[in-house]
Amino acid sequence: MTIPKTMKAAVLFGEGDMRLVDDYAVPQPGPGEILIKVEACAICGTDPKILAQGWPGHPPYGEFIFGHEYAGSVVDLGPGVTEFALGDRVAVEPHKGCGVCDNCRDGLYNTCLNYGNVAKGHRHYGFSYNGGYAEYACNHINSAYKIPDDMDIDLSTLITTAATSLYGIRRIGGIEAGETVVVSGPGAIGLMGVVMARLLGAGTIILTGTRAERLETGFALGADIGINVKEEDVVDRVMELTGGIGADAVLECAGTTQAAVDAVEYTKKNGRLALVGIYKEPAPLNVNKIVQWNITVAGSKAEGERSLAQALALLRRGTIDLSPLITHTFPLDDIHAAFETAEKRLQGAIKVVVKP
Ligand SMILES: [Zn+2]
Ligand SMILES: [Zn+2]
Repeated sequence: MTIPKTMKAAVLFGEGDMRLVDDYAVPQPGPGEILIKVEACAICGTDPKILAQGWPGHPPYGEFIFGHEYAGSVVDLGPGVTEFALGDRVAVEPHKGCGVCDNCRDGLYNTCLNYGNVAKGHRHYGFSYNGGYAEYACNHINSAYKIPDDMDIDLSTLITTAATSLYGIRRIGGIEAGETVVVSGPGAIGLMGVVMARLLGAGTIILTGTRAERLETGFALGADIGINVKEEDVVDRVMELTGGIGADAVLECAGTTQAAVDAVEYTKKNGRLALVGIYKEPAPLNVNKIVQWNITVAGSKAEGERSLAQALALLRRGTIDLSPLITHTFPLDDIHAAFETAEKRLQGAIKVVVKP
């Protein structure tokens, strides 16, 4: 296949200023990199914030292509790449560590100590480095994962989300078969948390949230019980549902102060709580309860330790239909409408996918 010299891309020119250009130079894969023909890029909850405010250390305005949840096919190989072949279908993860700091050497590249240092080899695609709202994107092989031929390309963009949920679960030591799991917050990461918990053999999965239609989607994806926190006292209800002992494992994805405070209150003695949400302010957690109840609390940043590979392994068994999560698709030309739909959650939008 001949690769054109220029491509169409959505480029950030300033705060809130996203423009479509059709003469952006197609990147060339360097050593260890592959060129991907992007076929789908999902809008993440972080993307409207990047559009509005940029990102610390982002590429210069006028050159910055964002978007980090993308999938497509390999169309060119950089020098030395033998791990992928032309035509392979791949999904990517946003983080590629420097490879030399202590954390990277331990597999914790999501917390690379050289964050944003491009010269050191760090990449945060769609944040501090160019990403996927474009016809082509260049990724290091460490950030790309082969997807099966029969996996829908739009659904493949959800693997990063799935890996974020799964990483939270891994940060608290996994989920054992039959355990009661609370997933707090039915956004895309919470809903994927339900899917991951179900595939890992959770017993009862309780999903909490404020919107009835999102809880309904959760049932379709494997949740057993929904709690509308606007209508019921979530702590009382979880304690009641668990015979007064609380949940074995909790995945807090809502990212609100109250949700974090409540999660501590309904976690079981010796239970585990993963904080996956993004919190705007410090939360007054009941720390003495965490101590006296021997509760494990873990922060969980993005999707380290090759969680994408594990999420893919769980999802490829195909036992849960993920299609309710993708509510809208738009061509790249309509990316502004796509963002409006995602940001305002128009027509019940959950995941909105842009198709370059
Ligand atoms: Zn994201
Ligand atoms: Zn590093």
